[in-house]
Amino acid sequence: MGEFDFIRHFLSCFEKARVPVGPGDDCAVLPPARVPVCATVDSVVEGVHFTRPFFRLADVGHKALAVNLSDLAAMGARPRWFLCAVSLPSRFSKAQVLELARGMAPLAKRHRIQLVGGNFTRADRLSVTVTALGEVSGKGPLLRSGARAGDVLYVSGSLGDAALGARLKGRAPPSAARRQKRPEPRVRLGLVAALYARAAIDVSDGFAQDLGHVCAASELGARVSLQRLPLGAALARTRMPESEKRQLALRGGEDYELLLAVPPARASAFEKAAGRQGEKVTAVGSFTREERLLFLDAEGLPVVAPGGYDHFL
Ligand SMILES: [Mg+2]
Repeated sequence: MGEFDFIRHFLSCFEKARVPVGPGDDCAVLPPARVPVCATVDSVVEGVHFTRPFFRLADVGHKALAVNLSDLAAMGARPRWFLCAVSLPSRFSKAQVLELARGMAPLAKRHRIQLVGGNFTRADRLSVTVTALGEVSGKGPLLRSGARAGDVLYVSGSLGDAALGARLKGRAPPSAARRQKRPEPRVRLGLVAALYARAAIDVSDGFAQDLGHVCAASELGARVSLQRLPLGAALARTRMPESEKRQLALRGGEDYELLLAVPPARASAFEKAAGRQGEKVTAVGSFTREERLLFLDAEGLPVVAPGGYDHFL
């Protein structure tokens, strides 16, 4: 099967893009933008982000688009268009191309993002690179630098199940494995956040690290109540010391949840609006003028250890 057959089979899984020029020419042509457009790109690479057959091809297709949708959500952007570049090891079959596309297409449909172009090439290992474009909504874009001292720190959904899936691999509870392989980007919550929040980031590297990015960009610190962190259901049920569970929730990464800074005056309206969209959000702390991350125990006392929070957590 040649490149053109790959493209034809891949495209057959997606709805036809409603744009001036879609796949098939040298470039796609998009309609004139009514609002600013957010653009992001990310790759998933065999041996780096996934291994086979632990990841099915449908998982790879889903995840490649999901991680980009998560970045759009973190800006409060409405997904519109994407391009997809696939590197295939030789002897890839038509069935395999279709499986990859069929993992990606339902997610694209759910979030109304249209495939407008892409590329297929041969390579030593499988990788999928997606470039996604979205329109700024509400008061967006939500930047990492927008938080102010006193803002409430929210996290969506739950933390740590994806990391549990990655750690236990084949022995992971199915729900944890699913969180790792098929993350659900918080696109709807991002659109709500664009109306209420001042800053946002998606949790790809781990709660502590990504919170650190917001703090650094906003020139602030934060206080986080460890008790309030929403642990994933699979992680909460797992037999493991509490400190280790907390470790996975704070550092595991790949949760693809949103961290949000919301002014206190808008906090309750934000919680109601998120609830109406079926999105769970938890207030886990607040941003502070003092530029350090402080994790508090059940008594509200700072958890301190020699070498700083880094070594303790
Ligand atoms: Mg991100």
